[in-house]
Amino acid sequence: MSPPAAPAAEPDAQAVLTVDLDALGANWRLLAARAAPAECGAAVKADAYGLGIDAAVPALARAGCRTFFVAHASEGMRARAALDAAALPGRIFVLNGFHPESAPFAAYRRHGLDAVIGSPEELAAWRDARAAAGGDGLPVAALHVDTGMNRLGFPLEDARFLPLGDLQAAGVTLVMSHLVSAEDPAEPVNARQIAAFDHARERALKAFPASLANSSGIFLPQRPVHDLVRPGYALYGGNPTPGRPNPMLPVVGLVARVLQLRQVPAGASAGYNGRWTAPRPSRLATIALGYADGVPIGGSGLEGRGAQVFAGGIPCPLAGRISMDLSIADVTHLAEGALKAGDTVEWLGPNADVDALAARCGTIGYEILVNLGRRHRRHYIGDGTGA
Ligand SMILES: *Cc1c(COP(=O)(O)O)cnc(C)c1O
Repeated sequence: MSPPAAPAAEPDAQAVLTVDLDALGANWRLLAARAAPAECGAAVKADAYGLGIDAAVPALARAGCRTFFVAHASEGMRARAALDAAALPGRIFVLNGFHPESAPFAAYRRHGLDAVIGSPEELAAWRDARAAAGGDGLPVAALHVDTGMNRLGFPLEDARFLPLGDLQAAGVTLVMSHLVSAEDPAEPVNARQIAAFDHARERALKAFPASLANSSGIFLPQRPVHDLVRPGYALYGGNPTPGRPNPMLPVVGLVARVLQLRQVPAGASAGYNGRWTAPRPSRLATIALGYADGVPIGGSGLEGRGAQVFAGGIPCPLAGRISMDLSIADVTHLAEGALKAGDTVEWLGPNADVDALAARCGTIGYEILVNLGRRHRRHYIGDGTGA
């Protein structure tokens, strides 16, 4: 499949975000094949990494995904509504734990959500809520064991000695943990976490299916895929193997309109605080995309560093600070007339993947994706079954 072509902006759209749902589905199938015979789920927290949970969840379900992970119960409700609207099945786990004061058990039950339990208090509260609710078809739980992140999850030695009866009363159906540095296979913490997870599962927890790997975890040489993998970033086109070729298809395109072009003399400055100075007579393009549109200000074009946009496939460095709604690119090297006001330039797409843009902005691709925001016109391509 060829990468999605960046669409021409519509007449009144200053920036257009394209999400290729067929590429998303194809990425899920690629990861599912790679993780087989383990099941492949999908992390769709933070609005499916900024791409739109309402569109992403049905597309993933059409591709074959049956297990989804969100951070908040409210995200789970949106995922459930999206599945219901498409008449598609799936279980939805809420990663951040069971906190009845913000989302009571009744909400889990009503919306068909399952909890990821990460502490003795949560386990007791979940077990009591299930007992009080009674009846069939109650929400179930995954038990989260901490193997080194020190963020969420049961302390390892506590988890090891949980009585099977307590786990069954809480409806535990999955044991999971989370990798700290899966994107770096040379990092010894990977082997330590894999061993710790095995150690946790020597006793009662052995009875349950297990899940450890995120996107990069699927590609670790140890292949810690267990029974279920939980990729997020790679589904959306991010590279799960940094420093090696990206095995995933691009999912996201972002183009923005050129509002003005101007010629400036050598020595002229551009942007707030005049942080860029023209080294020679220069042509500058003002682009309708700024940090309010999700491009980190760290991508500003200062001291020879910063993000670049592509005009007809040719990279053009940013000139000066990124503003809230605008940025400026140095297009002096383009052929005369190659770029006109009204044309679009590419921020993300066939020439510019999310990892490359992130590196130029001094951040990670995850942060680029989740900050893309709702300001752009959005185009969804396909439905998860094509590509
Ligand atoms: C976000 C998350 C994932 C997905 O991680 P990626 O690196 O995006 O693949 C998996 N498991 C947990 C617990 C997470 O929080």
